[in-house]
Amino acid sequence: MNLRLYDTMAREKRPFAPADPRRVTMYVCGPTVYGFAHIGNARPVVVFDVLFRLLRQIYGENAVVYARNVTDVDDKINAKAADEGVDISVITERYLAAYHEDMGALGALRPTLEPRATAHIEAMQQQIAGLIQQGHAYAAEGHVLFDTQSYENYGKLSGRPLDEMIAGARVEVAPYKRHPADFVLWKPSKPGEPVWESPWGPGRPGWHIECSAMIESELGLPIDIHGGGIDLIFPHHENELAQGVCAHGGGEFARLWMHNGFLDMAGEKMSKSLGNVVIPHDLLQRVPGEVLRWALLSAHYRQPLDWTEGLIEQSRSSLDRLYGALQRVKGIAAERTDPPAAFLEALTDDLNTPRATAELFALAKALETAHGEAEKARLKGELLAAANLLGFLTADPDVWFAGAADEGLRAQVEALLEQRVEARNAKDWPTADRIREQLDGLGVIVMDGPQGATWRLKEPA
Ligand SMILES: [Zn+2]
Repeated sequence: MNLRLYDTMAREKRPFAPADPRRVTMYVCGPTVYGFAHIGNARPVVVFDVLFRLLRQIYGENAVVYARNVTDVDDKINAKAADEGVDISVITERYLAAYHEDMGALGALRPTLEPRATAHIEAMQQQIAGLIQQGHAYAAEGHVLFDTQSYENYGKLSGRPLDEMIAGARVEVAPYKRHPADFVLWKPSKPGEPVWESPWGPGRPGWHIECSAMIESELGLPIDIHGGGIDLIFPHHENELAQGVCAHGGGEFARLWMHNGFLDMAGEKMSKSLGNVVIPHDLLQRVPGEVLRWALLSAHYRQPLDWTEGLIEQSRSSLDRLYGALQRVKGIAAERTDPPAAFLEALTDDLNTPRATAELFALAKALETAHGEAEKARLKGELLAAANLLGFLTADPDVWFAGAADEGLRAQVEALLEQRVEARNAKDWPTADRIREQLDGLGVIVMDGPQGATWRLKEPA
């Protein structure tokens, strides 16, 4: 299989070949755990989950090491802990558990490794000491700063003039900086904040050093793929790269950089001040995780994604169509097979999920017009193998359609179906017909099969 991926550094699609196909390494910047993740945070999780699944398909399940860090020391965590009058670990444990639950509901596999910043302070200090020793960092007023002027390739990943990037990212101006772009590796803790002893005074690490230190200690350099949202290119990834390269005398840090596009809310940027922040933790109360996953993968990952209520409805009906095709061949056992070539070609072309999902519809259509049990078994197997690789069609079709109804409606429908069975057993046809009409009025389609009746909700008009 020829996997091609767009490399932010090279600014083109390149054939992907890991340094060691028996140990493919991927690092994606993870959450800062001080609150529930919003839907924009979920986009990279789902995008890189698709890549993780595809790499496992190509290189083998145990050949891919995927690390996603947990930032558990941060100003926002400190503020939240102070606000509630609890230890920071109470905050970080609570929201990390919620993160796992919510991202799991979106069908994201757990990464192989989830290193935590607070467990790697020593590795960060070692990297900082090395940077100072090699003339790439300096201590000033209790801070340690990276000297961006000491690294000639600084800014190469972002590819824009340095002053433009600094203005755009609102880089902090401080008197102890030699250059405005110089960034913090270590800083003094404010009163009440977590603090660690260091050769440069008591304090805590900056954010960027966390990732480069954990990449080195957890995965080893260079890694094959480094990923994250497009907003991380500058300054976060630019700084990770500078530290990672300079700490090792100029060696390679990441062999390929990948970034997913922005997620907008009906054309606007999602922000607390606009009051349009969407939280999967809440949304999952009324929308199945698979629907949200479909919506997140509906645009190509490098394109912006416009999040609307209409997108959620479209995604639901797309999945209804696929589940409907499966339900109609419920009695046929799926053949065990690999995903078909056309589907894999789409996915290996820089994770082209719109093309890959179009292939799912083509398979569903072929399945519905197929003749003969053998052909149906093969097509059903291909549809399932392809959809499962993307994390879709993981539910039983009956459960899928029944699950779309709310609790109260479900109980009502089940009771009516029971009465209908009794009426039919008693050959009371008028009653049976009346119940069927009642069900129709509730928006329910009843399907009689050899194992009794199943039902689903009609698609919304
Ligand atoms: Zn990072």
